[in-house]
Amino acid sequence: MTGRRKLIAGNWKMNGLKAQLGEVSAIAALASERTDIDVGLFLPATLIAAAAPLAGTMLIGGQDCHAQDSGAFTGNVSAAMLTEAGAGGTLVGHSERRQYQHESSADVAAKAAKAHEHGLSVVLCIGETLETREQGDDIAHGFVADQLIASLPEGADPSWLTIAYEPVWAIGTGKVATPSQIAAMHAALRVALVKALGDGPGNAMRILYGGSVSGDNAADILHTDNVDGALVGGASLSAAKFGPIIAAA
Ligand code: PEP
Repeated sequence: MTGRRKLIAGNWKMNGLKAQLGEVSAIAALASERTDIDVGLFLPATLIAAAAPLAGTMLIGGQDCHAQDSGAFTGNVSAAMLTEAGAGGTLVGHSERRQYQHESSADVAAKAAKAHEHGLSVVLCIGETLETREQGDDIAHGFVADQLIASLPEGADPSWLTIAYEPVWAIGTGKVATPSQIAAMHAALRVALVKALGDGPGNAMRILYGGSVSGDNAADILHTDNVDGALVGGASLSAAKFGPIIAAA
């Protein structure tokens, strides 16, 4: 018994138009039946204002925010914009942003701090590439633990910050890390969190797993040691696929 409340979160990535708001409502209805866990959807910024009134107890979040309050940053979204639109949280550091937008861990830490300053909860993503994993488990654990520490914002606290371990090789590929790979990585990350934040906050911070989670594998993953929930991409786009993952928690 860890005392950590599970979070089942969906990341819609660059998917979703107003026509899909019915899925938000259907997922919110499933979430409202689970008072024992948290459920969230990280939506495209354009859907947040329309989705927020449908969410009930479910968290609605953005997928990124800028590290500055405002300014000449064409195409970016600020934390205040997310808050005003009705979001309660945001992702930062997703591997697709680290890869395609070349975001560094220092950028990610600054974004997380700015999101918190504007009252958003944060899910901070970390994970290793296949190339790093193939160098061996110890190298992979060291790499991801270092990435975690470099991405942690000043004042990181479990009341607003959750970590998501997402092996890059498992995202959208259908290749899932095995429960023993996940348990070993999460144990290494727990040690790193306790060292960085101290016993209380280090043990209380949630660590989610993400990477090809589905209704078929969710129960095994979610009952693995130190797994405090899941961050789900493809299988979060409909209540039919996301429902069994929520039910497995
Ligand atoms: C993700 O986008 O964070 C993710 C884990 O995607 P998928 O579940 O599709 O692998």
